[in-house]
Amino acid sequence: MTVSLRDARSADLYARALNFLPGGVNSPVRAMRSIGRDPLFMQRGSGGEIFDVDENPYVDWVCSWGPLIAGHAHPDIVAAVTDAAQRGTSFGAPTAGEVDLAEEVSRRVPGVEMLRMTSSGTEASMSAIRLARAATGRTKLLKFAGAYHGHVDGLLADAGSGLATQGIPASPGVPAEVAASTIVLPWNDPAALVAATQEHALAAILAEPFPANMGLVAPAEGFLELLRERADETGALLIFDEVISGFRVSRGGAQELAGVIPDITVMGKVIGGGLPAAAYGASRALMRRIAPAGDVYQAGTLSGNPLAVAAGLATLALLDGERPYAQLTATTHALADGLAEAARTAGYHDVQIVSTTGLLTLFFSAAPVGDYAAAQACDRDAHAAWCRGLLARGVYAPASQFEAWFPSLAHTPEHIERTISAAAAAFGDIAR
Ligand SMILES: *Cc1c(COP(=O)(O)O)cnc(C)c1O
Repeated sequence: MTVSLRDARSADLYARALNFLPGGVNSPVRAMRSIGRDPLFMQRGSGGEIFDVDENPYVDWVCSWGPLIAGHAHPDIVAAVTDAAQRGTSFGAPTAGEVDLAEEVSRRVPGVEMLRMTSSGTEASMSAIRLARAATGRTKLLKFAGAYHGHVDGLLADAGSGLATQGIPASPGVPAEVAASTIVLPWNDPAALVAATQEHALAAILAEPFPANMGLVAPAEGFLELLRERADETGALLIFDEVISGFRVSRGGAQELAGVIPDITVMGKVIGGGLPAAAYGASRALMRRIAPAGDVYQAGTLSGNPLAVAAGLATLALLDGERPYAQLTATTHALADGLAEAARTAGYHDVQIVSTTGLLTLFFSAAPVGDYAAAQACDRDAHAAWCRGLLARGVYAPASQFEAWFPSLAHTPEHIERTISAAAAAFGDIAR
């Protein structure tokens, strides 16, 4: 049985948007092309639910792709932002909240003694790389296939053919010589890592410690430790991009969970509580290279914006104590178990459910997924059909096989139940 969605108003808006916004959207994944449908326009959200312009309600597992760990329109966050806005939206001068937020973050994240705020994760990674290059006097970077660190030229590099390859541009407009200074390796491949770090003098090894942009692909046992070891042995800096994992997989992020401390940490999403904010941080010695303390230039008109800082502080306050992470873990487990059960009930066996606190991916694959090649080999048509089935039944899941679900503190057992029954029906649609 197929059910369909009422979407006349979204369709009208999309038709207008196509004339004024490329592809009708301001960021590609929103267009829903990879599940073969047109985008849905949203009008409001509350807790774990969102409502589109046709008044369809959805359980929202996207949560703005990560920032909304407390769900939509949390009263504390709305109050903090409203209060800040009434006092002025931007000064271009320092404010108390920035100091509070930097202190809060350094209390939580082991590798961060000092930080600089930016407005987006892309800017933060770009700046972290500049710092690593300045500190090492080297140019080359190493990143992993399937990892995303923002749309920075040098990081929009794809693996060429062969094992430890110089990157090739992943988009027109990225200069070949810029992409070529990025080495791209398969994730979870220790031999390739050792070989590449022997061959190239690297400024930095850049990794998402819990990669979540090829779907969630956990690091193999010992792999994060090996990153640290190879960086130390070869004089490269280790950069962890915790834009997704930070404040989510645990209070201090993946680095705290794994006990592997990077030289530079990139943060975003949760740190801005749903407003535009991100940051990069490191030891005081390293961060004092940044202007005006040091000679590495980096700046931003709206960096440390008072509204974004207020939202970030209010969000971190909601994550204090043991309870929030215990709840997030329980919610994630219940969702993972329920989805697995839904697949079994429908007789749909070729799925792999990977999860860690606050993150989950359901891969349409008969075998476990350990790297980008395996993620790419998933049955993406089945994933697309399943996602369309979920949407039609009031469940808004990431419209891509290469993204994670984002359980939040606002998701209730009732949301999970609705999701599981929709998932079972959607599996039924596609089961052969
Ligand atoms: C989202 C993301 C970024 C980029 O952040 P933006 O704010 O979208 O520029 C960087 N790294 C990771 C791991 C991300 O998921």
